[in-house]
Amino acid sequence: ALALPAAAYMLQDQEVHAAELERTFIAVKPDGVQRGLISEIISRFERKGYKLVGIKVVVPSKEFAGKHYHALKDKPFFNGLSEFLSSGPVVAMVWEGEGVITYGRKLIGATDPQKSEPGTIRGDLAVVVGRNIIHGSDGPETAKDEINLWFKPEELVSFTSNAEKWIYG
Ligand code: ADP
Repeated sequence: ALALPAAAYMLQDQEVHAAELERTFIAVKPDGVQRGLISEIISRFERKGYKLVGIKVVVPSKEFAGKHYHALKDKPFFNGLSEFLSSGPVVAMVWEGEGVITYGRKLIGATDPQKSEPGTIRGDLAVVVGRNIIHGSDGPETAKDEINLWFKPEELVSFTSNAEKWIYG
């Protein structure tokens, strides 16, 4: 059932609750890629029980990075941030699962790694705010916008994993 549109997916899997279709945009930023933390980050989302439905490695242009961070355009660090995001490969991903937007942010930890709890991705793996290795959408609207910015619909898959009945009951 690969690449079925969402509506067909829901019809096919009516017994699985619709909340499961929540999706969020997650990116390993250039520092995380350079430090060899791609698999570590994927692993944390995967082991939790979330499902990877899109992934690619891209070097965004500075203009694209600015679009991604448009909400921060008035911040003093906006230019440096856009420059940094476009400085090398980024692993762009879409993860799916119940509560994945909010819980994904918990897995990631606070923006400033000095304030992120141990056990979170930033808490365990990063030290300063300008090199905090990962991005995650902060709400349903931004998740939708960011997924649309980074991915074409045909780059995302819809499928049922055999583990779902063990993850969701
Ligand atoms: P988050 O990534 O946790 O959603 P924000 O949306 O507030 O956080 O900021 C986006 C990114 O901008 C952060 O992940 C961080 O890389 C960078 N950033 C935030 N605050 C600062 C700062 N004070 N100085 C430098 N970079 C910052």
